[in-house]
Amino acid sequence: MYISTRNNAENVHASEAIVRGMVPAGGLYLPDRIPQLTPEEIEAKASENYQELAKWIFSYYLDDFTADEIAACVEAAYTPENFARDEIAPLIKLEEDLYVLELWHGPTAAFKDMALQILPHFLVTALKKVKLDKEIVILVATSGDTGKAALEGFRNVEGTQIIVFYPAGGVSEVQELQMLTTEGNNTHVIAVEGNFDDCQRAVKEVFADHAYGEKLDAEGFRLSSANSINWGRLLPQIVYYFAAYMQLLRRDQISFGDQIDFVVPTGNFGNILAGWYAREMGLPIRYLVCASNENSVLTDFFHTGVYDANRPFVKTESPSMDILVSSNLERFLYLMNGKDGEQIANWMEALRRDGVFKVDDATKANMDAVIRSGSANDQETLEAIASIYESSHYLLDTHTAVGIHVVEGLPREVPIVVDSTANPFKFVGAVYEALEPDEDRPESELELITQLSKTTNTPVHRALSALFLQGSRPTQSITTEEIQDTITAILTEQTER
Ligand SMILES: *Cc1c(COP(=O)(O)O)cnc(C)c1O
Repeated sequence: MYISTRNNAENVHASEAIVRGMVPAGGLYLPDRIPQLTPEEIEAKASENYQELAKWIFSYYLDDFTADEIAACVEAAYTPENFARDEIAPLIKLEEDLYVLELWHGPTAAFKDMALQILPHFLVTALKKVKLDKEIVILVATSGDTGKAALEGFRNVEGTQIIVFYPAGGVSEVQELQMLTTEGNNTHVIAVEGNFDDCQRAVKEVFADHAYGEKLDAEGFRLSSANSINWGRLLPQIVYYFAAYMQLLRRDQISFGDQIDFVVPTGNFGNILAGWYAREMGLPIRYLVCASNENSVLTDFFHTGVYDANRPFVKTESPSMDILVSSNLERFLYLMNGKDGEQIANWMEALRRDGVFKVDDATKANMDAVIRSGSANDQETLEAIASIYESSHYLLDTHTAVGIHVVEGLPREVPIVVDSTANPFKFVGAVYEALEPDEDRPESELELITQLSKTTNTPVHRALSALFLQGSRPTQSITTEEIQDTITAILTEQTER
């Protein structure tokens, strides 16, 4: 069953947790206990492919889904066509004991596809179970990648509308073009004035507004979330930690039981939390390394125990990690403080009110046993791109490069896997700058892509080459205060159609 991080909800089945997205009274759903796998059980799966690993892991968490339903979701999402690779998430060796796990072979070239290709299938299955006869309205606040990945995942999914809000000027040209060129009869994309945190806060307020929720309910709509606060987003990410370990085993890079570290470029703390679940289930992971960009609120938190969001929001070259309020941390804190929901509610209230909270020593010690952390500024990020290109002729994107920079500060004691969260061409401006700082460069990101592909002899991801063929839709920009009215207007128009 699924419980709330704030002890303020009745227990629900997986389908209900997925349909709701978050706990109605505030708080996040998480499973009441974590499946414990024996080493033998894990080793027995060493030769399974990605799809089989996914079915196996999901079967422990989707308590009210049948095996057939789980299989149908997995087989619809993780097809070799959708991910263009049999491994789905291939592991690339850069150096002795240093690997990158490419999580960006999905349809939008970002790691968000790993979860968002399957979430709509989870949701549609769950809806049938809870017998909710409403059109689901997915609201997303995005710093760039989630938006496009969610739009692609939900595009034309029966019984759903998806509305994506992104900070105007806060995403890259390629990201914006990707979102604005989405097809489908149920997709809506809106630019909002302000930064990502403003955008995310405003969308959360819509969810928290009960009167508004009831009004929509009466009109036949139910709000839901595809942000990484939805358990259905987090769960799929556990799989690739297992898949990476199995690839190392099959390639004889490790023996079963050997510990490895994962380095995770982190923003909302979803990816790394999934790694923690894998570790807790019994996968031999030693440390999870949280890598931050200059918005290093998480790294500072892990060093000091003080979460302090009172600092300037920095726009960096790794914009998907430009976040000061990290939503999934709440789940992790709950797991680290002995499941004290009241304390979580107090910390979250302090964060909302004062922008800061401090955890107690016991919680800090629990975190220290699993988490390492480090950060990279933009210059260090670009240097990592240049140095890996020089040594391994491999192109890193800026987010993965933050992880690589953090690796450079770690002792090499066990094999290290860096989660690679985006295809390099998606953040082409910065990657080009890293490799060719002195060149005069074309203004347009699309031209840069062509150029960088030529000079590095690296093929362009199919999601990005497609952009060259599409025109963009006109965009409107609204204030955060206008979000609710905008949603109403979109849904009214849908009803009248
Ligand atoms: C979303 C994203 C991240 C951050 O992942 P979290 O799960 O939010 O920590 C890192 N890199 C890229 C490219 C992303 O799109």
